[in-house]
Amino acid sequence: MKVLVYIETKEGSPVQGSLELLTAAKELGETLAVAVEDKDAAEKAAALGAKVTVLKTGHASEDAQTAALEGYIRETQPELVLFSGTQIGKDLAPRLAQRFGAGCVTDVTAIEKAGEGVEFVRPAYGGTVLERLAVSGPVQFATVRSGSFAKPEAAEGSVEEKDAPVAAEALKAKVIDAAKEIAEAVDLEGADVIVTGGRGMGDAEGFKLVEELAALLGGVVGASRPAIEEGWASRAHQVGQSGKIVAPKLYIACGVSGAMQHVSGIMGSKYIVAINKDEAASIFDIADVGIVGDVKEIIPLLMEEIKNR
Ligand code: FAD
Repeated sequence: MKVLVYIETKEGSPVQGSLELLTAAKELGETLAVAVEDKDAAEKAAALGAKVTVLKTGHASEDAQTAALEGYIRETQPELVLFSGTQIGKDLAPRLAQRFGAGCVTDVTAIEKAGEGVEFVRPAYGGTVLERLAVSGPVQFATVRSGSFAKPEAAEGSVEEKDAPVAAEALKAKVIDAAKEIAEAVDLEGADVIVTGGRGMGDAEGFKLVEELAALLGGVVGASRPAIEEGWASRAHQVGQSGKIVAPKLYIACGVSGAMQHVSGIMGSKYIVAINKDEAASIFDIADVGIVGDVKEIIPLLMEEIKNR
């Protein structure tokens, strides 16, 4: 099977989730990798063994990326095209699938060989069940959840640049200026450590403990939906079904009950620590370590212990 991996890039670096796709592709067959414009980022992907073609469009917009990728897919004819499940991946994959009259499976967590093709696995109903999907047709598109595959080891790859001029009529949106939103600065999907506060933090003042612990661990602050609704953190911090799907090495949930809509967003975490005063809280069902106690007592003790090491 010929698999094309889209290396999404951001300010000279490949997005972590797109590097993980290289591992998924390698398990399925022949791997092609393609990036748009960003040669520096492509070189970082090539250091992990990828053979990356950089399409030179002269434009950065998603319209330009779609047009350039469409041309490249028609030329190379992969059977499967993989995107990371980021905002950009979720934008490009269905647009391209539509242009090829093909299926697009989103939020995939595993891909398995099945006969001549593949089966996609993805969580449904807020993560309570896993569904398996197969799509027929000469080419298929999928977006994959970050953290579903390991990043490849260092290996020799290559970068090749290719002109991919985009017709003016393909550029429907014109980028006039790019404002850096707070949302962009909160990289929950790429974080190794996330400390999340829930309603159990009590108030905005209490939530500051979460920020302090995250800062001490060099981590990123997450929040449950009620914590966002209370205004203790901006929406960019929301973890869960209607927020970000995360896969850190360490996830610390403070005053979070473990509702299905929250837990479905953290199942890719490698190690989960939960602090909750209710020993029957369902967050303890999925935690590797559970601490029963008041967050206002436990978090300061934890911080003291960390500082002493
Ligand atoms: P609660 O459920 O109220 O839990 C607070 C916990 O804190 C309790 O377990 C309590 O024992 C504990 N606690 C209280 N005081 C202390 C203390 N002093 N010390 C220690 N522990 C204490 N939620 C999300 O988080 N993310 C989503 O993306 C999301 N999407 C949703 C989508 C839909 C369609 C729907 C219907 C809901 C969604 N929700 C989401 C909401 C979700 O159902 C829960 O309501 C929410 O996750 C609960 O947040 P919480 O754990 O902070 O609050």
